Amino acid sequence: MSDHLETIVSLQHHLTVEKETERQLAGIPAWMRDLHDEHSRAQAEIDALHAVAQAAGQKRRAAEAGIADTQEKLKHLQQQMSMVRNQREYGALLQEIDTAKAALRRFEEEALAALEETENAELAEAGKKEAFAGLAARYQEGLARWEEEKPALRAVLATTRETIATLRASLTPALRSQFERIYERTKGEALAPLRRTERVGGPSLWHCGHCNYQVRPQVAVEIRSARALVQCESCKRLLYPEPAS
Ligand SMILES: [Zn+2]
Repeated sequence: MSDHLETIVSLQHHLTVEKETERQLAGIPAWMRDLHDEHSRAQAEIDALHAVAQAAGQKRRAAEAGIADTQEKLKHLQQQMSMVRNQREYGALLQEIDTAKAALRRFEEEALAALEETENAELAEAGKKEAFAGLAARYQEGLARWEEEKPALRAVLATTRETIATLRASLTPALRSQFERIYERTKGEALAPLRRTERVGGPSLWHCGHCNYQVRPQVAVEIRSARALVQCESCKRLLYPEPAS
């Protein structure tokens, strides 16, 4: 008779390894985390300066469009000068021309300011990029080294998955689905160690190592000696005897 409890303990272990390896492969390795954060911060600063330059460029184009419109309007007003018929019309036209000229000056100032802003932001962006060139190079090296480490992790993952398939196949269908249900419900932590409660004198007491719920002595004996599959009455995890340390 095969030891289902041992199979399930091994299955849980390999499922945890699988999940952890998948997580590692999808993320950034611990040794690269600081470099990654530093690089992300630098990139964010560069992106922010780039956005400032873009926004200033938009402001400049809007101001330039304003200049073109106003110049057109001025030209039109000045053409009307030859058609004024009296002093009142002349006065009103002059007023309009003055207003348009003031608007033109405002647009010109805006365009100039936006131009300066663009240039400053672009200069700052270029400076940042230069300052971060070393960091960018180190980051690329880090990425390359991480790529070199990945095949070994993928091999671990493949072997682990084969082992998982073998272990699953060796369980009875009923046991397999019982385990899967608990595994799903406990979000990948289907087992809890059976622990001896520290007590001075008296008979040994046992409890669930996950939720501390008490386990009857007779049940503890069944788990430890007869390798019975028992769920904790409280958290419903499968209890397993902790290997002697
Ligand atoms: Zn429990």
